[in-house]
Amino acid sequence: MKIKNSIKALLIGILAVGISFLLPLTVTAASVSTEDLLNADKNKSEWLIYGHTYSNQRFSPLTQINPDNVANLRPVWAFSVGNLDGLEGTPIVHDGVIYITAAYAHVFALDARNGRMLWHYAPKYPDGLGTVLCCGPINRGVAIKGDLIYVLTLDARLVALDKNTGSVVWERTIGDWQEGITATGAPLVVKDHVIVGIAGGEYGVRGYIRSYNAKTGDLEWNTFTIPGPGEPGHETWPGDTWMHGGGTTWQTGSYDPELNQLYWGTGNGGPWNSDLRKGDNLWISSLLSLDPDTGKINWGYQYTPNEGWDYDGNNAPILADITIDGKPVKAAIQSNRNGFLYVLNRVNGEFIYAVPTVEGINWAKGLDPKTGRPIVNEAMRPLSNGKTVEPIVPGLEGGTNWFPMAYNPDLGYVFFATNQWAMGLTAHPASEVKYEKGKVYMGVDYQMYRQGPAIGHLKAFDVIKRKFVWDMPSPLFLFAGVLATKSGLVFTGDQFGFFMALDALSGKVLWKFQTGSGINASPITYELDGKQYVAILSGLGGDPSFYIQSPKGGMLWVFGLENLPPDVAGSGNWQPQPVENALKDYPPK
Ligand code: CA
Repeated sequence: MKIKNSIKALLIGILAVGISFLLPLTVTAASVSTEDLLNADKNKSEWLIYGHTYSNQRFSPLTQINPDNVANLRPVWAFSVGNLDGLEGTPIVHDGVIYITAAYAHVFALDARNGRMLWHYAPKYPDGLGTVLCCGPINRGVAIKGDLIYVLTLDARLVALDKNTGSVVWERTIGDWQEGITATGAPLVVKDHVIVGIAGGEYGVRGYIRSYNAKTGDLEWNTFTIPGPGEPGHETWPGDTWMHGGGTTWQTGSYDPELNQLYWGTGNGGPWNSDLRKGDNLWISSLLSLDPDTGKINWGYQYTPNEGWDYDGNNAPILADITIDGKPVKAAIQSNRNGFLYVLNRVNGEFIYAVPTVEGINWAKGLDPKTGRPIVNEAMRPLSNGKTVEPIVPGLEGGTNWFPMAYNPDLGYVFFATNQWAMGLTAHPASEVKYEKGKVYMGVDYQMYRQGPAIGHLKAFDVIKRKFVWDMPSPLFLFAGVLATKSGLVFTGDQFGFFMALDALSGKVLWKFQTGSGINASPITYELDGKQYVAILSGLGGDPSFYIQSPKGGMLWVFGLENLPPDVAGSGNWQPQPVENALKDYPPK
């Protein structure tokens, strides 16, 4: 009896300790269902998916903030992520909580009503990881489903966190970082699949896309972007070049629930020196359509066959139903690093049309009007002879690099940043280009050149009339994502640190705010307690911040039309986190 009582007391004690640990961190946000994700377009108040909806339009139906009152926008709170390594993320907003990621895949859950931190997940990393990060320790965001938050770490792990506490529920290794496989993108949840891609195109990785079960973390399928022996397309690779051929999958895809097609972009060829892998090299620099349930490739569209200029094709397309030549078309729209904007039929991958987004493209003489296949200007392809080829337009950063576009379906306009610069490429002789596990595998040196006074251009393009509507130039490159709203606004940021709102029809800047560091992230908007807010991460870092000198930073800024009422600002369910011995009694006992 006595023994039993003491066991009972012990159990109660353990339970009490457990509860005391949990209490300060507990939030009670509602679960996110498959239907919630499918209906993200009808959910005015939240931002549930990386691209806002599966169609990736980054278009909000909110209208409270509009061209007439946007000049009154003011910061209502801000949050520091506590480091200066660069922010490229898109926040997720659900049930009064904002989830953001910072460099090194740190995840923060914040009370949307006042910016107070609910929890912080700080992944631990192995020594030596820095040597396999091509472009800084950046991360682009989380995914949410059920009661879990999914994040990819730099050392290629998929981690599922309890959305209410930030504790790790499970984690899976998705690749060997020592091979140069890393991860920087936000996962995409489709039904019960967490779909992930990998980075490492500069390290001789063979790209793949994977699906894990959202609940259990079990691996469901793995699809290589480069066909192996016996698979269709394998013949487009000479010898064993397919083994280290690139085609990585470092961004987030888009999804059409009606067609049940998942769309995922692929990166540059490996090594960069295309002279060493003659052939189309399927499926590098391509758009792939996959069955999300099996990983089977439905079709592929290759933007840049035998890609040799670091023209990654990773940006997920915007899915839009538009009328072209009087016919309804289910389109996939993507502005590419190779300097062209593509409109494809997303049912079957057929080319519809493309337009150049930068001046003076010279790596291609043009595109085949029927297929969109580039007519390559071979004089602009670096060969393994040590000779520098320059100036090649566009430079390897694009065109449109990774930063997301936005689409306003009322206007039929896409809004995207593109950059006007050139490069020189010098390919090494074949004898000097050897694959070594975990080492840079490029075989090419490069130099970037400024072209004129304005490198960056935010452009609006009418996809139905096939014409550019406006162009907002910037002296520095533009590397931020874009948000469009039904009220006729477009939000983006620049490298000087300005977060800005533009008129969707004219491109006129209606409002701007200095955030203290350059902006390389993507804006979102949401509604809380009946009021609309806009949020952006500010903090220069990652690629291509090393080209310029500008203050670093690491903040989430939230803007609204009014200051938060004091009672709201002071409330929330956040409680002090236990910090042992931080405060001592005085006088000391
Ligand atoms: Ca690349």
